[in-house]
Order: sequence, then structure tokens, then C-alpha cells
Amino acid sequence: MIYLDNAATTAVAPEVVEAMLPYYEERYGNPSAVYDFGNKNKNAIENVRREIAETIGAKPEELYFTAGGSEADNWAIKATAESLGHRGNHIITSKIEHHAVLKTCAYLEQNGYEVTYLDVDVNGMVRPEQLYRAIRPTTILISIMTANNEIGTIEPIARLGSIAGRHGICFHTDAVQAYGQIPLHVNTMHVDMLSASAHKFNGPKGIGFLYIREGKRIPPFVHGGDQERKNRAGTENVPGIVGMGVAAKMAYQTMAERQEKESRLRDYLIYSVLKEVPLTRLNGDWKRRLPNNADFCFEYVDGASLLVMLDMDGICASAGSACTSGQKEPSHVLTAIGVPESLARGSLRLTLGANTTREDIDFVVEKLKNNIRTLREKVPEYQSYLEKTRKAK
Ligand SMILES: *Cc1c(COP(=O)(O)O)cnc(C)c1O
Repeated sequence: MIYLDNAATTAVAPEVVEAMLPYYEERYGNPSAVYDFGNKNKNAIENVRREIAETIGAKPEELYFTAGGSEADNWAIKATAESLGHRGNHIITSKIEHHAVLKTCAYLEQNGYEVTYLDVDVNGMVRPEQLYRAIRPTTILISIMTANNEIGTIEPIARLGSIAGRHGICFHTDAVQAYGQIPLHVNTMHVDMLSASAHKFNGPKGIGFLYIREGKRIPPFVHGGDQERKNRAGTENVPGIVGMGVAAKMAYQTMAERQEKESRLRDYLIYSVLKEVPLTRLNGDWKRRLPNNADFCFEYVDGASLLVMLDMDGICASAGSACTSGQKEPSHVLTAIGVPESLARGSLRLTLGANTTREDIDFVVEKLKNNIRTLREKVPEYQSYLEKTRKAK
């Protein structure tokens, strides 16, 4: 099997599993317990908090563990809206956010908030001037993702964040795709809140974190016990937190090397596909792009059928966001960057991992070429296109 869907989720590293197991088998005590058997698990949690905070230039007290990226996004947006509702009701985000952000904003719209969804350019980039112009006296929150999960575009967060900062507006970024792949620093990015999720960087599923800048009083989202300094109730997912800690450490230790290797392989993949498969378009920015992302649209191809054929060849890929596949509507991200609906239906996202090899890429390109040829043979529009080009010659 060749796994090229690392934007959907990643393999849990063996070192991560190994570190987690004792917390299921022997050290299962509740961290809030009085006795040492439970209470010493607090140390394990606080060590991870310190280590992860360090990776983004934050203080440990600014980091809160959540049950993944979606919860972190929901918390950041809903709680900010609620706590600053007296100051205004306007939120700014972009048209290409993950559904964890978009649907949260849609929910708030039903509850009296106004949301501006910023357009992006053809490469999926949010333009700082547009953000600037969208700001109103009632704007209380800006949420723009660090990197897009579908087309891999890396947003100019530092510039967007400094605009938000100059206006005194709370700035959140969904960094779920970016964390562990590219360096992030909460101060140089000028962010007040940042979401991440372990299963996108070889950690376990169902655990993530939200960074909240010191002094920003964001109310709790999950109510109950006093865990996470009364900000996020629920018995801590100790094995998950420990696993995320190991995954984060590994991701940061190997980041430079992986970035180099993966971006080289990514470019090799992109050039090979564009060369071997006619009528293909690369989606997203060529340069400001996640090191592991290649996203294409093929004309006269049904993306869903292509995925099935690739699956039969042992290749795991995606039509874009995992959350939208199987849906009839074309991807909101491709629509936002101006891809026509017919072309958007032929989309394919390939996201590499640390173990992807050049041989894997060669195999995938060969299969892509053949499968697309087969699919196009059955498309009358493609036949008439061929006819037309033949006549033109
Ligand atoms: C995967 C993803 C999420 C959701 O994270 P979960 O941990 O799966 O809830 C949010 N935003 C982006 C950009 C993602 O890629």
C-alpha cells in the first residue's frame, strides 16, 4: 500500500505508541487523585505542556489540551464570540477554512453574529489589504488558517496577525496542517490563539491543543471539573497527551530534514504529473506551499472514480478535504480559487509522509497516467475535444 493521504491523518509513530502503552496498562491513575499513583501523572502532563509550548514560543500556561483540532477551533471561535459579544458581533474568516471553522462561524451567524468570509487569490492566498478593508468597529475576532488542508497554501499569517494586532482584534489561526511541518512562533506570527491536532503529525487521534495568549480571557468551552486550570473540563487523556508530546518532539527534531526531503519529492511528483498527464492543473501556490502537498485537477476526469481506481492499485489518496469527499458539491476551496465546477470534480490530493520514496512517486505517476487515460476514453466531451484539436491541426 502507498499511503498518500497524510493531510487526512498520519500513521502513529512506533515511539509514540510505545510511550503511550504504560499509561493504559500500568499508570492508569486519575491525575486529579490525591494518591501518588494518580497524581504523578500530572507531571507527565505538565512536561508535555512545557515541551509543546516551547515548540511555538509560548509559555506552558498558555497551552490547553483539547480532544483534537475541531474542538480547539470551536473553542477559540465560539468562546471568543461569546465573551466579546458586548463589544461587537463581527467575525472575519476566509472562504477556504476547514469546516471546523466554517461551520462554527455559520452556527454563530444563526445566533446574531455577522461573518465576513474573505476571498482568496487564485493560489488560495488571503490578501492583507482585503483583511484590512473588512475590519469594522464591531469586529471582535479574525480567524485565518496557517496552511490550507486541501491545496497546501501557506497564508501570510504574520502580516494578517499584525493587522489584527494594530486594531486590537483577537486573532486565531487553525495551524492543524502546519504544526510539525513548518516552523511556527506565536509572537512572530502575531497570533492570540492557535489550534493543532496530534494525529496530523504522527500522534494519536482525539488529542490536540489550543494556545491562548496570556491575558486573553477566553471562557471555558467544556464545562465540568477543574482540569486544565478550570478552562477545559474532563479527565485528562493522559496516554494521548504523552503520545502527542513524543510526536511533537520527533516532528521538531526531524522538521528541517523532512521539509527538505518531502519538498524535493513533492516537486518531483508535481513536475512528473504535469509532464505525464495532459490537461492537468496544479492547485495552490507553487512556492508558499506545505512541503508534503500536491493537489491537482484533471480535465474530463471524475475524481471519485479515479480514487476508486487508485485504491485498487493500492494507493490511498483523497479528492481534497477528507470531510467533503463523498459529497456531491465541489470543494469550497477549489470554488474559492476560481476552479470551474467541471474541473473541480476531477480533483486529487496527494500528501506525502516521512516514509514516502521516489519509487512510490514513480509508481503513482504511472498508475495515474494509465487510470486517467482509461477514464477519459469513456468521456464523450473528451472525445470531441480530441476531435477538435485534431481538426485545428
Ligand atoms: C484535520 C483538520 C482539522 C480537524 O482536526 P481534528 O483533530 O481531526 O478534529 C481542523 N483544521 C484543519 C486545517 C485540519 O486539517
